Amino acid sequence: MDQANILIIGGGVVGCATARAVSQRWQDVFLVEQFPRVGMATSSRNSGVIHSGIYYQKGSLKARHCVEGNRMMYEFCKKHNVPFRHSGKLVVAADAQEAADLEALKKKGETNGVQGLRIVGPEEILAREPHIRGVAALDVPSTGIVSSEDLVRTYARLAVDNGAHIVSRAKVTAMEPKRDTIRVSLRIGDNGDAQDETIEARCVINAAGLYADEVAAMLGNNSWKIYPLRGEYCEIRGPRTSLINGLVYPMPHRHGLTLGVHFTKTLWGTVLVGPTAIYVEGKDNYERGRLGIADFARGAKTLLPEIEESDLQLGYSGLRPKIVGPDAKDAHGDFVIQRDPKVPNAIQLVGIESPGLTSSPSIAEHAAQLAAEVLA
Ligand SMILES: Cc1cc2nc3c(=O)[nH]c(=O)nc-3n(C[C@H](O)[C@H](O)[C@H](O)COP(=O)(O)OP(=O)(O)OC[C@H]3O[C@@H](n4cnc5c(N)ncnc54)[C@H](O)[C@@H]3O)c2cc1C
Repeated sequence: MDQANILIIGGGVVGCATARAVSQRWQDVFLVEQFPRVGMATSSRNSGVIHSGIYYQKGSLKARHCVEGNRMMYEFCKKHNVPFRHSGKLVVAADAQEAADLEALKKKGETNGVQGLRIVGPEEILAREPHIRGVAALDVPSTGIVSSEDLVRTYARLAVDNGAHIVSRAKVTAMEPKRDTIRVSLRIGDNGDAQDETIEARCVINAAGLYADEVAAMLGNNSWKIYPLRGEYCEIRGPRTSLINGLVYPMPHRHGLTLGVHFTKTLWGTVLVGPTAIYVEGKDNYERGRLGIADFARGAKTLLPEIEESDLQLGYSGLRPKIVGPDAKDAHGDFVIQRDPKVPNAIQLVGIESPGLTSSPSIAEHAAQLAAEVLA
């Protein structure tokens, strides 16, 4: 049986960032990932936006880690050559009623410590985005985009350079708390020639994304249920990508469900339109019953009247690990980052939906601080 100081469950952006952070301080760090490679789940199925922190409730973990993660992300990308673009973004009010809410959004961002926010009029919108129609907009200079796949791979490479062991095709199937350790059962390999293995870890970090509720339940903690909220994208390719220059967002959903269907000029020059938001059954349900292109075109026309159905093709989709369900009145939810109350050598990272990509370097530091308490 292998012995680990720290075992991280899940090789998404959060698990890999955490592996890098903890392997700078401790030996015998393991990360186990059920899929053949790291970053194949939510971490490669998102908008790749480096958020600023304007949307989140004051004092929430989302606000804290997004603002700090934004700063850390630019530094990290520059230092380790991860492709990114510091483009800024416009949150555009389509009419006078929406424009009245821009001031509140600006205040919320300022309260969270986001700098440089400005409300701009239609002339400046037109100068930056000549095809976008809006009456006013919030200019958010600290927003940008990053190649999420390169980001995950870079975290993982640095973790391995520090001596961490990343084991793919390794699914955690059960856990048993012992006196000072947790015994973790793994199924390693593909169906035909899979083997059962056990690792005994002094500290376990649950970074299992959509499955974090099920992994927590393996330790007897049934506090959370994850509801997959699907976000679907369409894409513009070819000459019509010139309709958008940077990042354009609508006003966010009032009850916090999503930030709204936005336009993102990607690092490779296409334009993403999305993501939508629909609760689905099944944590692997990326494609069943997807919206048609006509629905996307209709929605997108509010801010971009020139867009036509023929400009769009269906793109990928991703599943947000929501910890609030479809019946909740307030859909904001917050990240859960804590030592398990009953099994204190387990660290639970649950409900890491957007802005989880942006927040990853800061969440990793938080997880490393909790690990230091466990290993003290
Ligand atoms: C549509 C969409 C758009 C988004 N846009 C943005 C954005 O623009 N900016 C932003 O900051 N955030 C965004 N996000 C959020 C961001 O993508 C997530 O917060 C982040 O990727 C979560 O990373 P993770 O590592 O927690 O989860 P994941 O990437 O899901 O990784 C968890 C990993 O755990 C593994 N795993 C699960 N169970 C087990 C097990 N039993 N054994 C072994 N391995 C296991 C899984 O296979 C998976 O690889 C978006 C999300 C979605 C869905």
